Amino acid sequence: MDMKYRFCGRSGLQLPVISLGMWHNFGGVDSYENARDIAFHAFEKGVVHFDLANNYGPPPGSAEENFGKMMRDGLATHRDEIIVSSKAGHLMWDGPYGDGSSRKYIMASINQSLRRTGLEYFDIFYSHRYNPETPLEETVQALVDIVKQGKALYIGLSKYPVDKAMEACAMMKAQNVRCLIYQDRYNMLVRRPEEQHVDFLRDEQLGFIAFSPLAQGLLTNRYLNGIPVDSRAARPSGFLHREDITPEMVDKISRLNQIALSRGQSLAQMALSWLLAKPVVTSVIVGASSVRQLDDSLEAVDAPDFTTDELSAIDSIIL
Ligand code: NDP
Repeated sequence: MDMKYRFCGRSGLQLPVISLGMWHNFGGVDSYENARDIAFHAFEKGVVHFDLANNYGPPPGSAEENFGKMMRDGLATHRDEIIVSSKAGHLMWDGPYGDGSSRKYIMASINQSLRRTGLEYFDIFYSHRYNPETPLEETVQALVDIVKQGKALYIGLSKYPVDKAMEACAMMKAQNVRCLIYQDRYNMLVRRPEEQHVDFLRDEQLGFIAFSPLAQGLLTNRYLNGIPVDSRAARPSGFLHREDITPEMVDKISRLNQIALSRGQSLAQMALSWLLAKPVVTSVIVGASSVRQLDDSLEAVDAPDFTTDELSAIDSIIL
């Protein structure tokens, strides 16, 4: 497998088509050695983009702390070869300044994130979600100032309604800072971005990065035969639940798995190559709980093209 890189919208920045996310499995409750092995292996395979957020853990902040340890354990010598992103926008600390999108919260949060990771700057810094209680111009001004202060090279938006993302991009442009990238959930089971955001992304020439491309593990072989004890659905993460693994879901993923097998792929590989076949997608941010899973997912980079029959067979299952 040779990693492929794509330009991020109308920018000079290329991202690997597969990026690594540190939302789960990289926190203080997880094995640091396993997390480090996954991240170092990722780097060796050309997965040079690591996606963080202030609140990733648990406990919140610990994924950034662990990433800082990985930097000290060797990754730091490759600082100019990697892209590190972080975000602020979800609950991080108590009181009115630890959540939302105010200038106070965003500025305090990026300073904390820089301290935890030991980085001098993030490559990409995101507003993690749209917050209707903060005037958009306040959030955008904070993001613009972050770039102007050298704390981040590029700005991204995550989970913004299209109209608000458009407004934010225009406000940034007026201050000579282009929004680089938009991040949202996109996978075979959640197709909202293709319904709502594609025109905006094309018109603004933004990069697009898909999170939870494997639907947190649903679009893999993980739940084909029950719920493994070490899986996300079995752990009390609160994000994927045992109740999500319904007989209907298992039937759907089993049928998708048959198509994947007929293409010579694992279901995870097919789910990723299905996304990477979309022109709007710059990169997908996968999670992984082991090096083996990451290696499996990486084979998606060399996937055969989809035939029209395969795409219609997939659509007949997922639409
Ligand atoms: P995925 O949809 O890729 O799910 C990852 C999980 O799927 C793994 O933890 C593992 O589950 C399972 N898995 C992964 N690869 C394989 C494989 N090849 N075979 C079998 N099972 C596999 O992504 P995440 O939901 O983890 O999200 C990825 C990243 O996206 C996050 O880390 C974060 O960076 C970003 N994100 C951003 C958000 C935002 O609001 N902007 C929100 C959510 C995520 P198991 O642990 O059970 O082994």
